[in-house]
Amino acid sequence: MKPAETPARTDYEAVIGLEVHVELRTESKMFCSCSARFGADPNSQVCPVCLGLPGSLPVINRRAVEFGIRAGLALHCEIAPETRFDRKNYFYPDLPKGYQISQYQHPLGRGGGLQVPVDGRVLRVGIRRLHLEEDTGKSIHGGVPGLVTTDPRYSLVDFNRSGVPLMEIVSEPDLRTPAEAVAYLRELRTVLLYTGISDVRMEEGSMRVDVNVSVRPRGQAELGALVEIKNLNSFRSVERALAFDIDRQVELIAGGEPVPRETRHYDEERQITFSSRGKEEAHDYRYFPDPDLVAVTISRDWVAEVARNLPELPDARRRRYAEGFGLPAADVEVLVASPALAAFFDATVAGYPNPRTVANWVLGDLMRLLNAEGLDPAESPLPPEHLASLLKLLDQGTISGRQAKEVLEESFRTGKAPAEVVRARDMVQITDPGQLAPVVDRVVAEHPEVVEQIRGGKQQAMGFLVGQVMKRTRGQANPQVVNRLLREKILN
Ligand code: ADP
Ligand code: MG
Ligand code: ZN
Repeated sequence: MKPAETPARTDYEAVIGLEVHVELRTESKMFCSCSARFGADPNSQVCPVCLGLPGSLPVINRRAVEFGIRAGLALHCEIAPETRFDRKNYFYPDLPKGYQISQYQHPLGRGGGLQVPVDGRVLRVGIRRLHLEEDTGKSIHGGVPGLVTTDPRYSLVDFNRSGVPLMEIVSEPDLRTPAEAVAYLRELRTVLLYTGISDVRMEEGSMRVDVNVSVRPRGQAELGALVEIKNLNSFRSVERALAFDIDRQVELIAGGEPVPRETRHYDEERQITFSSRGKEEAHDYRYFPDPDLVAVTISRDWVAEVARNLPELPDARRRRYAEGFGLPAADVEVLVASPALAAFFDATVAGYPNPRTVANWVLGDLMRLLNAEGLDPAESPLPPEHLASLLKLLDQGTISGRQAKEVLEESFRTGKAPAEVVRARDMVQITDPGQLAPVVDRVVAEHPEVVEQIRGGKQQAMGFLVGQVMKRTRGQANPQVVNRLLREKILN
């Protein structure tokens, strides 16, 4: 293509809608009592129901429905008074029944929305529907070391995953750029983490994303032809696959060619999308109500009870931290991104109500210690109460800032309460001028040349003398008191 014909990217606009699948962390599967745990030996968690053997009868997992309601409420969906399951028919080697139980006509939730922070503004993204279904088994293509065969000509299938409760969340086409799509996914992931219904780990497949993207000339109201890119497994892939495909579509449209409506896949290595099939339509799946399953009535009492037990969500937490506590935006983001870290922070503030100081310690020293050990905040060997009491000791002047850092490290390593560490180490801070004056006198007498420099106006030399006093008191002297005493002695 000649440069003159290169389409200006800015003449076109992308329209993006996302379909997100999330595995629910219930104990058992969607329609049987097999364990839904991730990571067990292949095919060790299966039964006639989830293997799709003839004559087996599925039973709806009440907890999975409850999790669906919880997610639906967190995403401001309307929860259906009655929800039903349908069969979605298609062949796949890891789908032994020949159909997937899903919800087509009567999804659990509809008409929700998510407030997504992007580049300092808030974008509202509509949630078209939220429904429950079951996961399929997992095909493993080619030789897998440690499994039955390492022969690359074979594919293996693990049915542990078949029947694991799955939730699908379908957004409205409200997103316009790859960056907005990623911001939406991040916020959705955080909200779901807070609800506790899933561990939403993209790398373990408990969160999977299909993106739908079309391109239209800027200013056109009508949507362009939809391209779906299936099964992206990281935020980075979502961003790259979208960027690639938007460019591809812009070039087609600008060159006067139609964009075929199709399903594509993303090749991580080559960073391109490629066509895999024509886009399927709902009627291709021959949906029909599952005759083995009853309709589920969802009483308003049940919904109200689930609503009462919803935790504080990221939105509200952000507001409380920023507006209520006056924390800087960057600190708010780091805290809110992790429910465990936010919970640790809140619990510490409950014992020591100075949020700014707590945020500094949590995001600074505590995070450093946790990261060094590869620990999640929920696994911190130092409980929030200990951090709160440490900060109180610091406030009361019992220990200095430097000592506090040492105590934190030791409490973190041993699990001992800060007061105990302070006592065992004889770490009490010396603030009594009467006790410090003799040490100050001695240091001044020993360094006449430094004293001269200070008298000559070299203020920085004071630090050296303070350091000497600290050394002789094994770090126990209160630096402010030492400074005052030195000043009085030298400058008066
Ligand atoms: P399908 O049933 O073919 O999967 P849906 O209408 O259910 O299609 O939409 C699936 C997803 O695609 C939704 O997230 C929706 O927002 C998005 N979407 C629909 N039409 C378009 C379009 N023309 N461009 C971009 N996204 C779209
Ligand atoms: Mg779809
Ligand atoms: Zn089973």
